[in-house]
Amino acid sequence: MNQQPSPAAHFRVDALQCSRWTRVRFEEWRRGGLDCVHVTLAIWEDARETLRVVGQWERFFREHADIIAPARSVADVRAAKEAGKTAVMLGVQNTSPFEDDLDLVSAFHAAGVRIAQLTYNVQNLVGGGCWEDPDPGISGYYGRNIIAEMNRVGMLIDLSHCGERTCLEAIELSEAPVAITHGNPAAFVGGAVELAARNRSNEVLQALAERGGVIGLSTYPRLAPDGNDCTLARFCEMVAWTVELVGIEHVGIGTDLYLGHDPSILGWWRKGRWSREVAIPLSGLPVFPDWMQSPADFDNFATGLAQQGLTENEIHQVLGDNWIRLLEQVIVTAPANVAHLTSAGQK
Ligand SMILES: [Zn+2]
Repeated sequence: MNQQPSPAAHFRVDALQCSRWTRVRFEEWRRGGLDCVHVTLAIWEDARETLRVVGQWERFFREHADIIAPARSVADVRAAKEAGKTAVMLGVQNTSPFEDDLDLVSAFHAAGVRIAQLTYNVQNLVGGGCWEDPDPGISGYYGRNIIAEMNRVGMLIDLSHCGERTCLEAIELSEAPVAITHGNPAAFVGGAVELAARNRSNEVLQALAERGGVIGLSTYPRLAPDGNDCTLARFCEMVAWTVELVGIEHVGIGTDLYLGHDPSILGWWRKGRWSREVAIPLSGLPVFPDWMQSPADFDNFATGLAQQGLTENEIHQVLGDNWIRLLEQVIVTAPANVAHLTSAGQK
C-alpha cells in the first residue's frame, strides 16, 4: 500500500492573538506553521456586538477556506492540520457577551466560542480584574454559576486579565483545568513594565498547574521581561524559569500579537464605555520584538528554546502540545458533550 505518511503528532498553537484580521495575517499563520490560533472576538462588546463578530468569522471561513477553518473541537484542529490549514478557535476576553444571562454561555458555545476570559482588567458581574484593589474575588452567585456553566458546556476559562483573588478562587471553583492564555510570571518580569499588573504571582501559577492548567507566555512588550528590549534569549530564559516553577506540561505560548490596528483601538481596550479617562496612560501601538514581528516568526521559539537546553519533546509541549491536551480535557470531556454522546448511543 502506498500510504501517505501521517502528519507529525505535534501541534503548534498560539493561545492568543488580537489582530485586525485580513488574509495577510492568515498567510503569516501558515508561514509560521501554526495549527491553531485562539482569536479574540470581544473585549467590552455585548451579546449583539459579539454575535456580529462571530458572523464576520463565518465569512472569513468561507472566503479563506483554502488556509483557515473553524476549531470547535480538537478533532477540527487535527483535520485542519492534515489539510494544511490553520484552525481558528473563537474566544472572548470578557464575560460581557454573556451580559447577565447564564443561557448566553451555551448560546455562544453553539455559535462556536470555546474560550472566555472571566474579567478584563476591572470589576464585572463575575469577578475582579487585575486593576482592582482590592479584588473582591468571584461573585457569590452569578460568578460561580458562570464557572459551573462553562464547565458544563465545555468552554475553557481564561484568567489572563483577572485579579489575584479572582484567579485563585476560579482555579478552586472550576471542575475543569483553567488557563492563562496570555501572561507572564510577575516574579521573573518584575514591576518595571507598563502593564505589570497583568503578570501573575507564583501562587496563582502553581495553583493553576496543580489543577492541570496551562499558561501561555507572552511576547507583548508591555508584559515581557525588559519590555521593548526583550531578546529571544531572555524570553526563552523566562520559559525555562516558568517550566522550573510549574512543570513542563503547564507552559505554552500566547503571544498576544495584535497587528494592523489603528492606534485608537487602545483607547477602547483600556476604557471601554465605563470611563472617559484611561487608567494607564496610552503610549501608542507597541513595537513587537524584531524576532517576533508576526506569527510567521514562530520558528524562532523553537531555536531559542533549544538554546536554553529544552529537549525536542519539551519544545513540542511548549509550542502547542500542552494546549491541545488542555483543550481535549476541557472541551471534549465536558459533561454536556459526554451526555450528548451517550444519548446518541455512542458508548
Ligand atoms: Zn488580553
